Amino acid sequence: MSDLFDLSGRVALVTGGGRGIGRAIAVELANAGAAVVPSARSTDEIEAVADEIEANGGDALAVSADVTDPDAVTSAIDRAEAEFGNVDVVVNNAGFNPADALGRPEDVSTESFDRVLDVNLNGAYEVTTAAADSLLESDGGSVINVASVGGLVGLPRQHPYVASKHGLVGLTKSMSMDWAPDVRVNAIAPGYVATELTTGLQENEELRQSIIDRTPLERFAEPEEIAGPAVFLASDAASYVTGSVLAVDGGWTSR
Ligand code: NAD
Repeated sequence: MSDLFDLSGRVALVTGGGRGIGRAIAVELANAGAAVVPSARSTDEIEAVADEIEANGGDALAVSADVTDPDAVTSAIDRAEAEFGNVDVVVNNAGFNPADALGRPEDVSTESFDRVLDVNLNGAYEVTTAAADSLLESDGGSVINVASVGGLVGLPRQHPYVASKHGLVGLTKSMSMDWAPDVRVNAIAPGYVATELTTGLQENEELRQSIIDRTPLERFAEPEEIAGPAVFLASDAASYVTGSVLAVDGGWTSR
């Protein structure tokens, strides 16, 4: 294979990198040669991911940070730069869709709405801008925002999540223009992925089946299936790709 997908010499920070999609992306970026900084609020899971990467011969540093805490984010970027010299790739994957933000607009509190926007949208903005100097100095600067099919279409009873993911798509497009040609900025829009975030959907047989029926590939994705597209977007294989939103949804949005 040619070295188009080789990430040797690059350093990638992955928020929410301790489990689910973030963990899979962190592991595959490392498999492609990047030094990886998995980050999340608590340390247990990200340390396990860093250990796994190092056990496979890669370089990793677990750094805890809440993406809604600007000081913690700045210090996480500082630690990554101190350890590896630079941050070339930022994967904004941290996100959530809590029960108190599900429902009709008149039934969801402003506090719940704000909290979802704070993590899913403002958090990505905070991390990306904190890494701006590093990204702009890099020869391979790349930002990958993990959005959702909810960033492309509306979903009932999920308006905070959908607003946050549409915002993330808008941020992707605008930042891609401001930072071209130095840093590429793209988004991935996963469909339904088998992670803790979708446990409720997977365990409700009726809902699970309705999602499968609506998905041309007839199943949920595994987290690893979102990681390949992330490696692609981080790599020189995507050297002419910026401002794009890559749907990785089993065909869900093609209907
Ligand atoms: P997950 O719940 O397994 O993982 C989410 C990660 O984000 C966790 O590591 C968590 O600790 C971290 N996180 C949450 N809030 C944080 C904060 N304030 N600061 C730092 N880290 C924080 O969920 P997942 O399914 O792996 O989701 C990852 C991303 O993919 C999310 O942005 C989610 O919206 C998106 N997504 C998931 C699906 C799906 O079906 N699972 C579909 C589309 C998009």
